[in-house]
Amino acid sequence: MEVALSRGADLGLTEEQQDFARAVRDFCARECGPGRLAELTAGFDDLHNSGIARRMAELGWYGVAVDEAYGGSGGGLLEACIFLEETARGEAPIGAYAVTLIVAGALARFGTEDQKQRLLGHVAAGGALAIAMSEPEAGSDVAALKTRAERSDGEWVLDGSKMWCSYAHKAMEILIVCRTGRGESKHEGLSMIFVPREAEGLTVTPIETLGGKETNELHLEGCRVGADALLGEEGHGWTQLMAGLNYERVILAASALGLAQRAFDEALAYAGERRQFGRAIGSFQATQHKFADLATELVQARLLVRAVASMTDAEPERMLPQEASMAKLACTELAKRCALEGMQIMGGYGYATEYPMERYLRAAVVTTIFGGTSEIQKNIIAKTLGL
Ligand SMILES: Cc1cc2nc3c(=O)[nH]c(=O)nc-3n(C[C@H](O)[C@H](O)[C@H](O)COP(=O)(O)OP(=O)(O)OC[C@H]3O[C@@H](n4cnc5c(N)ncnc54)[C@H](O)[C@@H]3O)c2cc1C
Repeated sequence: MEVALSRGADLGLTEEQQDFARAVRDFCARECGPGRLAELTAGFDDLHNSGIARRMAELGWYGVAVDEAYGGSGGGLLEACIFLEETARGEAPIGAYAVTLIVAGALARFGTEDQKQRLLGHVAAGGALAIAMSEPEAGSDVAALKTRAERSDGEWVLDGSKMWCSYAHKAMEILIVCRTGRGESKHEGLSMIFVPREAEGLTVTPIETLGGKETNELHLEGCRVGADALLGEEGHGWTQLMAGLNYERVILAASALGLAQRAFDEALAYAGERRQFGRAIGSFQATQHKFADLATELVQARLLVRAVASMTDAEPERMLPQEASMAKLACTELAKRCALEGMQIMGGYGYATEYPMERYLRAAVVTTIFGGTSEIQKNIIAKTLGL
C-alpha cells in the first residue's frame, strides 16, 4: 500500500528539503535497519551510538541548524525537524541528538565567540551536549531549583543535585541551570553554567528506566569551573530558558512525530500480512478506521510542527507559547496513541519483545512527561486563551 501522504516528505517541503528527507531515510534503512539495530545499541539498551552520530556528522547532518561559521551546514529549525523526524522514524540510534540541539540553540543565542567555536564545532562534528534543569524537588515547577553556583577566586563553584539529565554520560559538557543570586521571585537569580562531564566534583549516576541507558542523576559538590563557563548573562537564566522554549518544544515534537510514524508504519505493514478468518486483518473495517484516524492525525501534527518551525525560523525572537506547546502536546500524545493502537492491531505479537511495537510504546510513554508534561502544555495553552 502506498503511504505517500503519511510519509510526509511532500507536505509543504521544497525539492531540496524532500531530497534531504529521502537521504536521511535511506541512510537509516541501510545502516540502522532491524538486522543491525540490536548490535548498534547493545541490545536496545544504549540508544546513542557515537559512530553513527559521527558518520551523520560527516554527511553534514549534525551541522543542520548550526551556523556555518562554527562548522555547521546551515539550515534552520525546519531542516532540523526533518532530520529529527526521519531519524526517529528510521530508528537511528542518536538518542543524544535532540538534547544536544536544544543546548546548541542556547549557545547560538547567548554563547560567546569562544564558546560557540568550541562547543558548536563539537556538535557539528557529531558530539553531544546535555542540559540539567530538573532536580529531585523541581520538576514541572522547574524554577524551584536549588543548585547553587558561587563565585570564588575568579571561578564558579557549584553545589547541588540534578535529576533526569539525559545523555549526560555521552556529553562533553553539561549546561547546568543554577542559582547565582537571590531575587524577589524564584525566577530571578538563575544562571546557566557549562560544566565539563569530567570535571572534578561532578558525579553522573545512571537512572534505570523503561528506555534503557538514557538519563542520569548528577551530583555537584564543590565543582569548580572557570568564569568563562557562564552562558549569557548572570541572573538572566530564566529569560534565557524562556527564549529557547519554541525551539525545545518543536525539537521534542518532531522526534515524537517520527516515532509515531514508525509505530504506524509497523502496524500497517503487519495488518497487510496477518490473516485471520481467511483475510488480512487490515481488511476489517474496524482496523481500517484506526489507520484512517491515525493517518489523519499524523498529517495534522506534521503540518503543525512544520508551521511552528517555519515561524521560528522566520522570526527567531518571537515567542510562540501556544503553537509550540500545541505541537509538543499533539505529537507526543499521538506517539503514545500510535504505539498503543499499533499494539492492539498486532494483538499478542505487538506485546512480544520479538516485535518492535512494545519498544515503541516504551519510548512513546515518556515523551508526554519530559520537556514539560502534557498537563503543563495544556496549562500553557489555556493561559494563552486567557484562562
Ligand atoms: C527520561 C527523562 C528524560 C529527561 N530529561 C531531562 C533533561 O535532559 N534535562 C532536564 O532538566 N530534565 C529532564 N527530564 C525531566 C522532565 O522534564 C520532568 O520529569 C518533567 O518536567 C516532570 O517533572 P517531574 O517528573 O518532577 O513530575 P512532577 O512535576 O512531579 O509532576 C507529576 C505529575 O503532576 C502533574 N503536575 C505537576 N504540576 C502540575 C500543574 N501545575 N498542573 C497540572 N498538573 C501538574 C504533572 O503533569 C505530572 O502528571 C527528563 C525526564 C525523563 C523522565
